Amino acid sequence: MQTLKNYINGELVEPIGKTYIDNYNPAIGKVYSLIPDSDERDVELATQAALKAFPVWSNTPKGERSAVLIKISELITKNLERLAIAESMDNGKPVALAKLVDIPRAASNFHFYATGILHYASQSYAMEDTAINYSLRNPVGVAGCISPWNLPLYLFTWKIAPALASGNCVVAKPSEITPMTAFLLSELCIEAGLPKGVLNIVHGYGHKVGAAISAHPQIPLISFTGGTNTGAEIARVAAPMFKKLSLELGGKNPNIIFADCDYENALKTTLNSSFANQGQICLCGSRIFVEKSIYEKFKKDFTDRVKKMKVGNPVDPESRLGAVVSKPHMDKVLSYVELAKQEGGTVLCGGYQVKPEGEFANGYYIAPTVIQGLAYNCRTNMEEIFGPVVTIMPFETEEEVMIFANITQYGLASILWTENLTRAHRMANNLHSGIVWINCWLLRDLRTPFGGVKNSGVGREGGFEAFDFFTEPKNVCIKLK
Ligand code: NDP
Repeated sequence: MQTLKNYINGELVEPIGKTYIDNYNPAIGKVYSLIPDSDERDVELATQAALKAFPVWSNTPKGERSAVLIKISELITKNLERLAIAESMDNGKPVALAKLVDIPRAASNFHFYATGILHYASQSYAMEDTAINYSLRNPVGVAGCISPWNLPLYLFTWKIAPALASGNCVVAKPSEITPMTAFLLSELCIEAGLPKGVLNIVHGYGHKVGAAISAHPQIPLISFTGGTNTGAEIARVAAPMFKKLSLELGGKNPNIIFADCDYENALKTTLNSSFANQGQICLCGSRIFVEKSIYEKFKKDFTDRVKKMKVGNPVDPESRLGAVVSKPHMDKVLSYVELAKQEGGTVLCGGYQVKPEGEFANGYYIAPTVIQGLAYNCRTNMEEIFGPVVTIMPFETEEEVMIFANITQYGLASILWTENLTRAHRMANNLHSGIVWINCWLLRDLRTPFGGVKNSGVGREGGFEAFDFFTEPKNVCIKLK
C-alpha cells in the first residue's frame, strides 16, 4: 500500500509523529493508501523552510519564476492520464471528468499565473508638478493555502500558482480526504526544479494541520476554500492577528429558467449544473426554479433524462456520476433526502444509495435525485447539501423568483435562462451572488473575479485580483520641488 509523504524544504519526508491516516477509494469503499497524520511540528518545519526560501524566491526575476511554473504546468499536462486516474481513485469522480476538467485546469492555473505575473503592473499618480506617487506591489511572505476535497488538484493549484508567481513562498494543505494528486504534484515540483522551501505541502487533518497554519504567527495570509463553518473558524483565529484572508465558502445556487429560454440548451445544461461531479461543485445549481407555464413539461423532460444518467464505476466512460467522496458524506446527503420528505417534499427520482455490481457494491454511490413540493425557504432549500440532490419549484413572476433566489445566507453563483436581454441584465444586477451565468454554466475565463457574497466568502480569486491578494501595496511619494 502506498504511503504518502509531506513535501518540506524540497524533500519528501515522513511526518514527525510517524503516524498515518487511512485514505479511502470511495468507488469501492476500501483503504488504498496512507496519509501523513501531520501536526503543528510539521507545519513549523514547513514554515521555517518557506521563510528561509523567501528572500531568494521573492527577488528572483519574474521571468525565471514564470519559467519554472510553466515547467510544472507542462509536467501536469504530460502526466494528465496518471493524474486523472489518481484523482478519480481518491475522490470518486469519473475519470473522464478528471481528464476533461480537473487536470487540464490545474495545468492552466499554473500556466495562466506564470504568464499573468509578467503583465501585472502597479499604478502611479502624478500630482501635477508637486509630486509623483507610485505603488510597489511586494509579495507578503509565507502564504497559507488550504483547499477542499471536491476539485482537489484544480482548487489546490488555483491558490498555489498565483501565490508563487507573485513571489511568496507557500505552506499548503490539501484535504486529507483527497491528498493523492497534491502528493503527485510535489513529485512534479521536484522534477521541475522548483527551489527547495518555495512550496511546502503538509498532509493531515484540518483541525491539526489547517488549524496550525491559520494560527501560525509567521504566516500572514491565508487563502482558504471550503465550508462556511470552517471559514468562520479560520477567521476567528486569524482576524486578531490581522492576517489577510481570502475565503471561498459554500453555496446554494439558484438555477432560474424562464419560459422564453432556449429550452433544449437549458435542459441539457441543467443536467450538468445539477449533477456534474456528483453535485459536489460549489457552483452547482441546487435549486431549480422554472416558470409556471413550462414547469410540468420541464419537470417531466428533466426527470426522464436524469433517470437515464448512469451511476457507477468511475473508470467506465458511460458513467455520468461516480461515487460521492466518503461514507460520512453519503450519509449526510441521504439524510437531507429524509429531511426533504419530512418537510413535505416528493422525490421524483433517485433519493437512494446505488449498489453497482462486483467490487463497486461497497462504494458510495447516490442516484441523482430531484425533489419537488418544497417551500422555497425550508431547510432543504436553505442549507448546502453538496451532493447529487436538487429541488425543483415553479414560479410565476420575476419579482417572486428574485425573492426565492436571494433568500439564502449564501451568494456564490446564479444561473439564469432567458432570451429576454433586458430582463437578463436587470436580474443579473439584482441577484445576490458573486457570479451570474446567463444561458450557460461553468463557462470560466480565468481573468474574471471569482468568489461569493454573504456567507459564500470574502475576497475574490482569479486574474489580477489574486495578485492583489498575494501582494501588499506600498505607496511611494516623491516630492518634485
Ligand atoms: P471543509 O471546510 O470541511 O474543509 C476544507 C479544508 O479546510 C480541508 O483541507 C480541511 O481539512 C480544512 N480544515 C478543516 N478544519 C479546519 C480548521 N479548523 N482550520 C483550518 N483548516 C481546516 O470543506 P470540505 O473539504 O468539506 O469542502 C466542501 C465545502 O467547500 C463546501 O461547503 C463547498 O461549497 C466549499 N467549496 C467552495 C468553493 C468556492 O470556491 N467558494 C469551491 C469548492 C468548494 P480536512 O479535509 O482534513 O478536514
